[in-house]
Amino acid sequence: MSLRNNTSHLVRDEDRVLQPKTPHSLRWHLSFSYAILILVVLLISGILAFFFSSQSIDQAAAGALKAEAGAAQTNVRSVLLAHPTQNGSWPKPLTLKVIDTHSESENTLGIAVKVFDLQRQTLYETKSPQPLSSYVLPPEESFTAAMKGEFPADVIDIGPAKEKIRIHVEPIRQPQVNAKGETTGNGKVIGVLLTAKTLQAEERTKSTLAIWLGVSALVALAIAAIGMHFTTKRVLWPLSAIVQTARSIARSAHTGNLSQRVRRPASNDEMAEVVDTFNDMLDALEQATRAQRRFVADASHELRAPLTIIQGNLAFLQQHVHELPVEEQQTMLQDAHSETLRLARIVDELLLLARADTAGALPPDKESGKREKGKHPVEVERVLLQLVRQVRGGLHSEGSSLQLEVGHIEPVRVNGDEESVRRIMVILLDNAIKYTPEKDAVSGLPGKITVSLERKEQEGILHVKDTGIGIESEDLPHIFERFYRADRARTRQGTGLGLAIARTLTEQMQGKITVQSTPGIGTHFSVHFPLVD
Ligand code: ADP
Repeated sequence: MSLRNNTSHLVRDEDRVLQPKTPHSLRWHLSFSYAILILVVLLISGILAFFFSSQSIDQAAAGALKAEAGAAQTNVRSVLLAHPTQNGSWPKPLTLKVIDTHSESENTLGIAVKVFDLQRQTLYETKSPQPLSSYVLPPEESFTAAMKGEFPADVIDIGPAKEKIRIHVEPIRQPQVNAKGETTGNGKVIGVLLTAKTLQAEERTKSTLAIWLGVSALVALAIAAIGMHFTTKRVLWPLSAIVQTARSIARSAHTGNLSQRVRRPASNDEMAEVVDTFNDMLDALEQATRAQRRFVADASHELRAPLTIIQGNLAFLQQHVHELPVEEQQTMLQDAHSETLRLARIVDELLLLARADTAGALPPDKESGKREKGKHPVEVERVLLQLVRQVRGGLHSEGSSLQLEVGHIEPVRVNGDEESVRRIMVILLDNAIKYTPEKDAVSGLPGKITVSLERKEQEGILHVKDTGIGIESEDLPHIFERFYRADRARTRQGTGLGLAIARTLTEQMQGKITVQSTPGIGTHFSVHFPLVD
């Protein structure tokens, strides 16, 4: 892929970060989904409520009709018993007093009663309310069915407006008196009784019910949707805040301003956890960026200083090489040379740390803590005593009155390479020598450095103690950082990388390094190595 294509890809990626797509899509999506859900629930419950209410309204109408039919049958039977007839003939005119007295109140209920003989002639009818009066007798086949008690329909539409009426049709039988003197209706069919009821009131009730259910569903839906909208807004605002913060950080990426944080919601829920995690991530990023910046600044400064000396000395020598006495030329060249060595040392140490960083970025090797095949564990006490001998020799030849003592030594075997163990010891001893004056300014006693080795549980611990200048408590947390040097240490030679290297090497061997120090009294470094199992 060409560079140009790559660049456009980057720009597109950046656009994706910087430009909001649909700002409230999740909120709207949630509100809409809940509204649909509520609508479905309301619809189902509305339909069920309407269905069951309609059923009970219909049942009440059917019950009223049946009761009226029962009353009419009783009335007809009493009339027939009072006027015994033969061959199914009826007393004419047929008067049903009970039904007549009901009639007025029945009319308000919209109920009408009709009695037909077998020739489908009307023998009796109540004064029917509209539209019942227009209801004509059922057609012949239905009439025949009615005589058998099998009339097919119970709700029909009549009139031009297709109004609904409920009808109840049943046969009228010749009453008979049994041996006990009781009246039964088991005789032959002599006519048909029709009770009918307009369903205007019921239909009106049903429509009102439907309207109310619809209106209340809509109101409930509107309230729920508004409620949902504000609830989601209240619940989801941290997400918007996170997006805003991330966006503003992305926008100011070049300045690397990571100081913004998202306000924590008062609730102690998952959203608060998301905000906490996001803020923690920003804390970590900010710290890492700050450390990286400090490192770059320190590194540039540390490299710049020797370079300036080398450059200055060489430039001076170039201009004045013929005027300067030979000794001075040599001193200047020596200075330049020692600064070159210092530069090389810094670069070497930086390389070592960079390599350790890269190794740390690789997936951890499960076997890293175990001994390589054919490799012997490191005998720490041997390496230490050897080094002490060398350092003592060095101190002696320099005419230093510093005392380097060996304390209690236990045999310690650790996994790792001897060179790393030696390097850690060199750094700690070198520092102890550097930061311990030959003579204590107050007591006049000579400075003392003590090394010892102890075994404790699963650890071998190397102790390096000195009676030197010590470290201020505010410097202590930083001394393992790259290029960090306490102010009081700046008068001594150093790169500020020694302890960073010592810690990295120790950690590579699954160990740890700790320090205790009292300014003016001395410093105590302890290196904990896991023992060989
Ligand atoms: P340097 O090259 O400055 O010694 P180091 O990384 O080895 O760098 O140490 C970092 C800082 O820790 C030193 O600059 C010094 O301030 C402090 N320090 C380390 N060892 C001692 C010690 N034994 N006594 C006092 N200060 C120490």
